[in-house]
Amino acid sequence: MRPLDGRVVVIDPGHNGGNARAPKEINRKVNVLTQWKACDTTGTSTNSGYSEAAFNWDVSTRMAKILRSRGATVKLTRSSNTGVGPCITERAAIGNRSEADAAISVHADGSSPGNRGFHVIMPKKIGGPVDPVVGASARLGKAVRDAFREGTGLPYSTYIGKKGLDYRGDLGGLNLSTVPKVFIEAGNMRNAGEAAKFRDPAFRQKIALALANGLQHYLKS
Ligand SMILES: [Zn+2]
Repeated sequence: MRPLDGRVVVIDPGHNGGNARAPKEINRKVNVLTQWKACDTTGTSTNSGYSEAAFNWDVSTRMAKILRSRGATVKLTRSSNTGVGPCITERAAIGNRSEADAAISVHADGSSPGNRGFHVIMPKKIGGPVDPVVGASARLGKAVRDAFREGTGLPYSTYIGKKGLDYRGDLGGLNLSTVPKVFIEAGNMRNAGEAAKFRDPAFRQKIALALANGLQHYLKS
């Protein structure tokens, strides 16, 4: 027996490495219930040009490996970092179709250089399909927040949310989810100190391990 035998996790590496070359496809508006939004976006990068899409992809594949080694069935919402999309609506639908026990979108932020720290984004009730999993998503979010802080040593965001937690009703990936789901914003890629950490593969492994531990804690509680 492994700890996560029989559990299904969907990991959504935010953005995609090919998005910049497909503006028409990516800028198409999709309905996320509380508003219309672009199908997907290009994401941010460090000042030295390490893209958020590449960071998200690397952390996600590392996390998938760890969770699979613990027995989980893991599905990713994209299969490489060279493609385009999928739309945020489809990213949510993949979690729903998989009947995931937990889903997580992996991102890093691009804010003012003086801002730093990580935050977890959880869904709000919007009178939509996510409403029944808002409570479970909040528990998942807190488990991920605690594990991330312990595993990475990064501080809570100095510029968004409270104690590393934020709740939003404008994200398609959350509004359309019928399974417990959160976003991690791992830090600020435009902050020199955090950018240096994110460029380090050993630190990305630390992030992946922390996220896997947070998911496991939620799934086992
Ligand atoms: Zn992002």
